[in-house]
Amino acid sequence: MSNVDDKASRLNQYQSNLEDCQAQKLANKLVRRDIKDMVPYQSARREQSQGKVWLNANEAGDSRTTTLSLDALNRYPDFQPQALIDAYSDYCDIDNRYLLATRGADEGIEVLIRTFCQSAQDSILICPPTYGMYAISAEAHNTRVIHAPLLTDNMQLDINAIQQHVGKVKLVFICSPNNPTGNNIDLVDIVTTLELYKDSALVVVDEAYIEYCPEKTLVPLLHKYANLVILRTLSKAFALAGLRCGFTLANPSIIDQLCKVIAPYPISQPVAMIASQALTQRSDMQNRVASTKQLRDKTQDFLQQQPWLVQLFESNSNYLLFRVDNSQALFASLLEQGVVIRNQSKQLGLDDCLRVSIGCEAELQQFFIAVLSFNEQFYGTSTANLFNKETQE
Ligand SMILES: *Cc1c(COP(=O)(O)O)cnc(C)c1O
Repeated sequence: MSNVDDKASRLNQYQSNLEDCQAQKLANKLVRRDIKDMVPYQSARREQSQGKVWLNANEAGDSRTTTLSLDALNRYPDFQPQALIDAYSDYCDIDNRYLLATRGADEGIEVLIRTFCQSAQDSILICPPTYGMYAISAEAHNTRVIHAPLLTDNMQLDINAIQQHVGKVKLVFICSPNNPTGNNIDLVDIVTTLELYKDSALVVVDEAYIEYCPEKTLVPLLHKYANLVILRTLSKAFALAGLRCGFTLANPSIIDQLCKVIAPYPISQPVAMIASQALTQRSDMQNRVASTKQLRDKTQDFLQQQPWLVQLFESNSNYLLFRVDNSQALFASLLEQGVVIRNQSKQLGLDDCLRVSIGCEAELQQFFIAVLSFNEQFYGTSTANLFNKETQE
């Protein structure tokens, strides 16, 4: 670079720094007081931008192929695209009126909070360790978050704790299978919660991973409990995380209220088209679920043989949570080798816990290799005797 260029570029840099500084001042002055100190959701993507094997966001390891016609984009889409709603209604065997299509399940969470919680006044109840977006969406809407932690011995609901908040919250979030633990919440406990909050709160059951254990769905209870809301997504078993499409299932009188708050065109036309295709050709999803379960068993066996494994959590989903003796060392070593999994150590009761998504076979193979190389480095274990735990103890 010439001297003149260099000078010009430094001047440019200086000016843009100055502009950034002024913009920052203004944004800080104008932003809502309760948003100012908020920490944004650390999505798996945002947290790690480098890596080659992605096993940190419970995404599918393969991508489906779709056909797309992009004519007629001059028109606004339907508020709720008919073909999409019909396809989902057929898929989960519930009347159209019980459905709202959303920009991912995350938008369902947000719209529920914005519709039912008076900001700076109402509260929601969550059962940690659990999915992070319930608390983030509540915070963004200046809504208090009350905790009724899961029982640590079996990761089930603490009904006594839940009972204590009857009348004090508008929404109760239950995730089943629970992210990040992987287990289902017992049906009897969910029903007890529905009964306890019958007249005072909606019980929102997040079924993002229900395709991995379809017999556990609460959809049949929608007709019995007017306070039951179910969240669904195409991001996991349908392998469409990039599409951003989810569903909220509830009594039509709840859906009617949500319709007042959600954006006027939440589902773009291409999204509706791709989602409808995926829902009408479901064998693709079913095959993926079957192979994910097989790979999960394989990964489970592999983890069980590791010298550093402290605890392996039972999973009914497409990820495995496990406790190790030094999560930081293992996590960092995998990352260095380009294998990105998720560190859950900061979650309530999950010290030294890591979560690995069950991606495709090639991805898991990379994960296994990286783990073995970590073992060699930290335990001086050769790959040959790894499968014989005695030799290391
Ligand atoms: C992934 C996930 C979601 C978000 O789903 P999107 O449809 O991608 O917004 C919601 N809940 C849980 C428990 C999840 O793991």
